[in-house]
This record gives sequence, C-alpha cells and structure tokens, in this order.
Amino acid sequence: MIRVLGAGIIGLAVSDELLRRGHEVEVVDPAPGSGASFAAAGMLTPAGELWHGEEAVHRLGRVSAGLWPAYAARLRVPLHTGGTLLAAADHGDLQLLDRQVALARSAGEPVVELGRRELVEQEPRLGRVVGGALFPEDHSVDPRAVVTALLERVPVVATPSGRDAAVTVVATGAALPVAYSGLVRGVRGEILRLRASPADLPERTVRAWVHGEQVYVVPRAGGEVVVGATQQEHAGAPIVTVEGAWRLLDTARRLLPGLDRAELVEATARDRPGTRDNLPLIGPTDDPRVVLAAGHFRHGVLLAPLTAQLIADHLEHGHVEPAVDPRRLLVPSLEGTR
Ligand SMILES: Cc1cc2nc3c(=O)[nH]c(=O)nc-3n(C[C@H](O)[C@H](O)[C@H](O)COP(=O)(O)OP(=O)(O)OC[C@H]3O[C@@H](n4cnc5c(N)ncnc54)[C@H](O)[C@@H]3O)c2cc1C
Repeated sequence: MIRVLGAGIIGLAVSDELLRRGHEVEVVDPAPGSGASFAAAGMLTPAGELWHGEEAVHRLGRVSAGLWPAYAARLRVPLHTGGTLLAAADHGDLQLLDRQVALARSAGEPVVELGRRELVEQEPRLGRVVGGALFPEDHSVDPRAVVTALLERVPVVATPSGRDAAVTVVATGAALPVAYSGLVRGVRGEILRLRASPADLPERTVRAWVHGEQVYVVPRAGGEVVVGATQQEHAGAPIVTVEGAWRLLDTARRLLPGLDRAELVEATARDRPGTRDNLPLIGPTDDPRVVLAAGHFRHGVLLAPLTAQLIADHLEHGHVEPAVDPRRLLVPSLEGTR
C-alpha cells in the first residue's frame, strides 16, 4: 500500500494517477483542498511566469501545460484556452512588459506584440494602457473545480490507518514533516475573488504592470474574477492584510475600471510552498520509504499532471527527473538529528 500525505491538488493528482495504474493507495488529510490549492488563481502560464535563471521551471511547465487539455477533459473541468494578455499602463511599465516578452521569445514561446489600439481591440474593458502582448499558449483552469473533481475519484481519510505503508508520498505543500521542513518555506500570497457582470469581465486572463505594480485578473465562467496576488516572505500565519487587499483592488480597478461595479466576494491568503531554487521536490529522499511531491511554489496547478506522472513513474520504474530530484537540496544528515 502507498500512503499519500496531503490532499491538495498535488497529493490528489498523484493519488488519482496511482489509483488509475492499479495501486492500492491511502490518502490522508484532515482538511482536503484547504491549502494553497484553495487560493490558487489557476493560471497555466509558463510564458507569463518565466523568469531569468528559471529555464528548468519553464521547460517542465511547458510539458505539463501540454498535458492539461487531456487532463481537464478526463476530469470534465473546463479549460479556459483564450491565451493571456499582457498590458502596460505607462511607458515604464512597457519596459517591464518588453523584458517579459523578450524572455518568453528567447525560450521559444509564441508571442503576439500589440500596440495600444490592437490591445484595446482585444480587450475593450481596459483602462489607460500604452501597449501589450498576447501569449496565446498561456491558459487557465479553476483549481477548486479540479480539486472537487479529483475528490470525487480519490477517497481521503483524516488520519492514517494503522497499516504499514510500503512507501509514503509526502504532498503536504508548505508544511513538510520535521525531517524535511527546512526544504520548503511559506511565501504568503493574498488573492481576491470578485463577481462581475459579463459586460465588466475581461475575455481572458490579463497580466499587467500598472505604474510599477503587478496584477493579474483571471475570469471564470459564471462571473467570478480572480485578482492576484501579493507575494511576501513571512514567518506568521497567512492573513489578508489591509495593504495587500487595497493594493490588489486599486491596481485591478485602474486596469479594468468596470471592476468598480463588481462585488467583493472573498479575500484569501495562503502560503505558497517555496524552495531554495524555486523548483519543486518530486522524487526520492535518502529514506527509501519516503518520496516527496512538494515545494511547487507558484506552479502547483500547472505542474499537477506532470507531477502525478513523475511520481508514479518513479514508484514503478525508479525514474527520476534530475531537475526536481529532492536529493539536490538534502544535505547529508547527521546521526540522530533527523
Ligand atoms: C495566491 C496564490 C495564487 C496562486 N496561483 C497559482 C496559479 O495561478 N497557477 C499555479 O500553477 N499555481 C498557483 N499557485 C501555487 C499553487 O497554489 C501551489 O503550488 C499548489 O496549490 C500546491 O499544491 P499542494 O497540493 O502541494 O499544496 P496544498 O494545496 O497546500 O495542499 C497541502 C495539503 O496538505 C494537507 N496537510 C498538511 N499537513 C498535513 C499532514 N501532516 N498530514 C496530512 N495532510 C496534511 C493540507 O491540509 C493541505 O490540504 C498559487 C498560490 C497562491 C497562494
């Protein structure tokens, strides 16, 4: 029997894949789906999230993005495939946007550059903007719908049975057991959910720089729109601060003035599970009975289908993807300290 600790999007995707491949699985979580996966915007955006020095994250993200259409279809969850618009509110913002476009292009991503008029034609609800771009391959999904669909397939128990597990897959997000807790830190993200009329909803995800502030707005079918997200290193419990909520609202309403009419439905904060090198931990540890599927930082939704395959392949054939091998960050343990 394989025990999976944690029923966020990662633990559930891994468990679903193992069940599909005929393994006996016990999934343990006292609060399934309540971690970072509850907060996530659900952007599947390897180009939009690309950053200097993060080529491996991008490579894996692009592979996983390629798995998403079939994955979403199997779970019967809609995939929003309209691409992602980038927008800049002033010329300083445009320099930041141009840097992102150049980076994406150098990584082989398709990009359509848009002048001010073309950008406004694509998204007439935008406020004052000077230019932008379209990443046609960056899509989105509702992570809560994905978690709900997975929970219909994967039974979860609140506490472990007394049975001995051959292997334990640790998928507890930002809260790893003490032996591995030094590998992951919580990076707070605050995010808002609004409800808007169709006339005020953008057609597709918009990522923008607005007078130096970054914001994204992700529309969902049914009128929900997600506005995110702050990013802050912290030691305390994740809470929504007045400053965080105000900044997100102020930036979003400058970007899309129609959002002034939207209903503010929810403000949420959760910890992203960050690692030292911003790459997840997927695979073996120095204990042959413990495998990690954690530390997915800003990319856990995007990387869920790939993580599920990598963990199942590892358990069945010993395969390890070197870039995400957890042993890269494990220092040799001293006798008696773990
Ligand atoms: C504001 C915000 C926006 C984001 N937007 C995106 C996005 O657009 N796209 C994207 O790809 N990613 C995004 N992310 C990142 C993404 O949410 C995470 O990478 C992903 O949810 C991690 O999933 P997980 O299953 O590892 O962790 P979690 O969702 O945190 O799940 C961990 C689970 O483990 C359980 N648990 C904890 N301790 C134990 C224990 N001891 N025993 C059993 N169970 C335990 C918890 O109850 C929880 O259910 C965002 C994150 C935040 C915070």
